[in-house]
Amino acid sequence: MAKKQTPNILIPPDQVQVKVAEWQSRNEPVLLGEGQEPLFLELVAELLGKRPLTSKKYQHTMRTYARQGLPWLSKSNVIRLYEELCEAGWAEFDPDVRIHLQMKPIRSQAGVTVVTVLTKPYPCPGKCIFCPTDVRMPKSYLHDEPGAQRAERHGFDPYAQTAARIRALEQIGHPAEKIELLILGGTWSSYRRDYQEWFVKRCLDAMNGEDSETLVEAQEKNAVGPRRNVGLVVETRQDHVDVDELRWLRYLGVTKVQVGIQSLDERVLALNNRGHDVQSTRDAFRLLRLGGFKIHGHWMANLLGATPESDVADFGKIWADTAVRPDELKLYPCMLVENAELYDYWQRGEYQPYDEETLTELLVACKVQVPRYVRLNRVIRDFPTTNVVAGNKKANLRQIALNRMAERGLQCNCIRCREVRRHKVTREDVQLRIETYETDATTEHFLSFETDDDKLAGFLRLSLPHKDAPHPLPELENHAMIREVHVYGPALNLGEGSSGEAQHMGLGSELIHKAKEMARDAGYGRIAVISAIGTREYYAKYHNFQMDGLYMTADLMVNGEL
Ligand code: SF4
Repeated sequence: MAKKQTPNILIPPDQVQVKVAEWQSRNEPVLLGEGQEPLFLELVAELLGKRPLTSKKYQHTMRTYARQGLPWLSKSNVIRLYEELCEAGWAEFDPDVRIHLQMKPIRSQAGVTVVTVLTKPYPCPGKCIFCPTDVRMPKSYLHDEPGAQRAERHGFDPYAQTAARIRALEQIGHPAEKIELLILGGTWSSYRRDYQEWFVKRCLDAMNGEDSETLVEAQEKNAVGPRRNVGLVVETRQDHVDVDELRWLRYLGVTKVQVGIQSLDERVLALNNRGHDVQSTRDAFRLLRLGGFKIHGHWMANLLGATPESDVADFGKIWADTAVRPDELKLYPCMLVENAELYDYWQRGEYQPYDEETLTELLVACKVQVPRYVRLNRVIRDFPTTNVVAGNKKANLRQIALNRMAERGLQCNCIRCREVRRHKVTREDVQLRIETYETDATTEHFLSFETDDDKLAGFLRLSLPHKDAPHPLPELENHAMIREVHVYGPALNLGEGSSGEAQHMGLGSELIHKAKEMARDAGYGRIAVISAIGTREYYAKYHNFQMDGLYMTADLMVNGEL
């Protein structure tokens, strides 16, 4: 009998390096070496000359340039690097590059365009042992993170960063009329307030395309301008949140606050030198929630003193403790980098990062616990892996964990995993669903439009403050609060339609109407909304809200009508 032939699946030795490079290129952002920019632009020009650009031709061209020292680049990395170089002034942007490489324009899946900017390097009041320090960067950011490099190129100037990002996005056909501004860098509240005010004003100036004298003037222009700020996010520490800070953040136009929970175990917090206790997180979250802010928590696994078992239990406390329960969460397993104090613990043998298998199982155990009202935004911090000294280096661990869950018939119920994205849905495809949960200070209603197969087309967070406790912002007594309205669909320019996409079926209006009805039925006389500057017109025009101090509010009893 003829011997059965085993298919040859071995990679020839001379191909191993190329395959590894290809894999890395697909899984992590690749950076050019010093002085490689001209060679890279030559590669782009050569790729442009190959029509049609078959996969074979792409590989062949890439191989030629890899031999000359360029890293192996996937098409998406070529496009990203090309856009970054154009932004930095190395070349005139040619939209044909993206089209030619057949990458679809990036469309925002969540309906808005995110513009990320970094504040200037500045010390942080925190002394957390796991947090990297790089004097060239704001605390906790590494010099070679792509976003950080972009900010550095612009001298951390808010105007230059925002303008360049908008320009780059618009050049590649990405609408930038609805912008969520994400301000990153250490602890926002520890920067001087005059710097904070100037920083936000300059970002708005860039969106407005013209300078203003004051922040308020810039906000007024933005409220009716061509590129509206529909969300403003900052990151701060829980021990910097008090009533005065709530008012200040609102004055700036902030709508969402990122706070590092990191752990709900006092011992772990102390061992890692967080400098605050669990109660501090609870207090900050209560104030933020009553102030209508969206709360975006960060939680870390594998901190000093934690074990995989204690981590799973600690993760459970985030949802079991009614005073915590954030709206969004980033789950960051601690990453060991050389310029953090934790590195010394590791060298002394007092700290050990989990291996990939342990981490994958931990992610599975955490993901199955996430409630339906939470968006799990990110799993794994996107440090370039070259900085990670030991432990997991895989940036795609979330996908690995999801695959494992699927094998076991488990699923993640978080918002991100259920977003309808670009699927076409009609009004008949979705039903209103209301999920109610308690916090220490409010009753939260999560109103959502969902399809039969559990896809989420939009949602609203209605917060009803408990009436038996005084409100930290007295002007909001007897007010229900809309903390978030989010309807999915690609980011379309104002006035542009796209049939079948969730943003344009009036789902947002239906959700707001329902929220008003529920608030009125629960006995609230008025309702407030933490509207971003650029959504004010919408709430005023379509839902009878008016500016009323730091919030927009509406009467729930006008002529018996909502
Ligand atoms: S508070 Fe945040 S930025 Fe500051 S040291 Fe701690 S982790 Fe780093």
